[in-house]
Amino acid sequence: MICEILSTLPKADYLCRMAIKRNIREFSLPELKKYFESIGDKKFRAIQAYEWLWKKNARSFEDMSNLSLELRKKLAEEFDLPALTVDASQHSNDGTLKSRFKTYDGHLIEGVLIPTEKRFTACVSSQIGCSLSCKFCATGLMDRKRNLTFDEIYDQVALLNEQSERVYGQKLSNIVYMGMGEPLLNYKNVLKSIDKITASDSMGMSPKRITVSTAGVAKMIKQLGDDKVRFNLALSLHAATDAKRNEIMPINETNSIEFLIESLNYFYQQTKNDITLEYVLLKDQNDSLKDAEELVAVYRQVPTHLVNVIEYNPVAGIPFIKSGEDSTQIFTDYLASHKVNVRVRRSRGKDIDAACGQLANKDTVTA
Ligand code: SAH
Repeated sequence: MICEILSTLPKADYLCRMAIKRNIREFSLPELKKYFESIGDKKFRAIQAYEWLWKKNARSFEDMSNLSLELRKKLAEEFDLPALTVDASQHSNDGTLKSRFKTYDGHLIEGVLIPTEKRFTACVSSQIGCSLSCKFCATGLMDRKRNLTFDEIYDQVALLNEQSERVYGQKLSNIVYMGMGEPLLNYKNVLKSIDKITASDSMGMSPKRITVSTAGVAKMIKQLGDDKVRFNLALSLHAATDAKRNEIMPINETNSIEFLIESLNYFYQQTKNDITLEYVLLKDQNDSLKDAEELVAVYRQVPTHLVNVIEYNPVAGIPFIKSGEDSTQIFTDYLASHKVNVRVRRSRGKDIDAACGQLANKDTVTA
């Protein structure tokens, strides 16, 4: 059909082929082997090509240096390889490394490498922009342009892993889907990216080291349960009553706390994977003792092992202010004294806008 439409144009053949070229990374290894056989080439060439795609981070067919020039040319004629590239990177003085990646169609997204004593964590984006408009989040100020494809999500992890090895001499130990976008509104690609990250013929990482964070799409949390996923889940709760949560997270209007509690219980029943509740402390908004009391009530209804209290990172143009040290202490002490397992997550990479909720493609400087 598309070729018929193009047939009246000059260079119709070329345009037709461009329009129907498929992303080579949509092919499994057995499919690639079949293709190589069909063009009279050896099967092991397919293994070599597959390694370039999933282990050696080839950004183009030209990179595949152990394939003949002729074969590389043929592959480039037949397939597309819309790989993500590093556009710029920026170091924070605490070691955090933020990278801006460019998609094949010119969009910019961000991912962050966060080194700590024991862990090297990659924080990756799942969408270009976000549609949820959480009132405190920088990405929420952007429109959602499109979902990232599974290979674009995979590429962020692979490129951050490369950086981690180069800069810190260590492979990534953990991955969090806490960059731009709402992972559960890009469900298929997020799950497929995790399949690839955990596959033994690519990165082979344990799903136990992966956490997907959601603003709370209850139906999809249940779907994760039905799909018996093996990775962990974090819920960005941030307020423990519907009235308060509606104010700062419009998604709550259609995904009430009661519905979220039900879906988290279902998820746990089906998977037994870890659930964390995230709670960003906003001065005079959700940081009173009454708020803490309401949070304890929610905590007791969720099969969670941890409340992560997050320090708020300021975002230009957003009026929220982070809670003071004293209120943070009183709030977390109250939780701890009511048998809540609580941890305060100090912000990383603040000086370069690489912290949670600050990812919005502001000026990024090449390192
Ligand atoms: N959409 C997903 C993942 C992206 S946000 C989600 O909402 O979970 C990753 C985490 O950073 C979320 O918990 C989010 O609420 C939090 N966050 C957003 N803006 C923030 C800010 N300015 N300071 C601190 N945390 C923020």
